[in-house]
Amino acid sequence: MSARTTVSATLLITLAAGIAAAQSRGRPELTEVWDPVPSKIDPGVAGRAPSDAIVLFDGTDLSAWTGKEGAARWEVGDGAFTVVKGTGDIETKQAFGDIQLHIEWRSPAEVVGEGQGRGNSGVFLMGLYEVQILDSYESQTYSNGQAGSIYKQHIPEVNATRAPGAWQSYDVVFMAPRFAADGTVEQPATMTVLHNGVLIQNHVTLRGPTKFIGEPSYEPHEAKLPLTLQDHENPVSFRNIWVRELRR
Ligand code: MG
Repeated sequence: MSARTTVSATLLITLAAGIAAAQSRGRPELTEVWDPVPSKIDPGVAGRAPSDAIVLFDGTDLSAWTGKEGAARWEVGDGAFTVVKGTGDIETKQAFGDIQLHIEWRSPAEVVGEGQGRGNSGVFLMGLYEVQILDSYESQTYSNGQAGSIYKQHIPEVNATRAPGAWQSYDVVFMAPRFAADGTVEQPATMTVLHNGVLIQNHVTLRGPTKFIGEPSYEPHEAKLPLTLQDHENPVSFRNIWVRELRR
């Protein structure tokens, strides 16, 4: 290689670097991404269903829900529905994987019971992964079982509970677990939860489906499963429930 060639190559590299630097300084459009265009939705009023949501309860009936055996028998009235003790859990007719969920709940104004027996219900994502519903306003129980806990897995960062009889909200971002063909966990489930608008679970990783006794562990399951609400024999009420299916 001649001295002249070396000089030319060096000059070219220097020039190219100079052009790149000039471009990044002077042409903002080089870092603009125009495609894809996110679909336009109507966000509606805060807390109400956005235009792309699947409404699971609009205040009128339980048509989006079923019992484990036969129809859902919880009581509908005053724009809400309430657990009827002993009628069993209810689940959505539609199955879901990754979702954003909005749900409002109310523990009974008349305080009855203690700890896990006071205003207990639960939202089970995929029917398996519970965000605890409990009257934790002035009541003691184990921290990983109080309102907003991912039951027996994650303690909420704060207790954002309102007084019994007041409506409360959970906003949840749930990412379903992924399983390999051989049944091993490729990606565990994760959850983010806001309780009354306050972040209480920040993208936490689940160790498996909720277990009352013993350590949780994963078993492979469907990519989509119904959302379940728990009959824990306390008259907890629900309203304004919607989900948005998420795309990775
Ligand atoms: Mg519960």
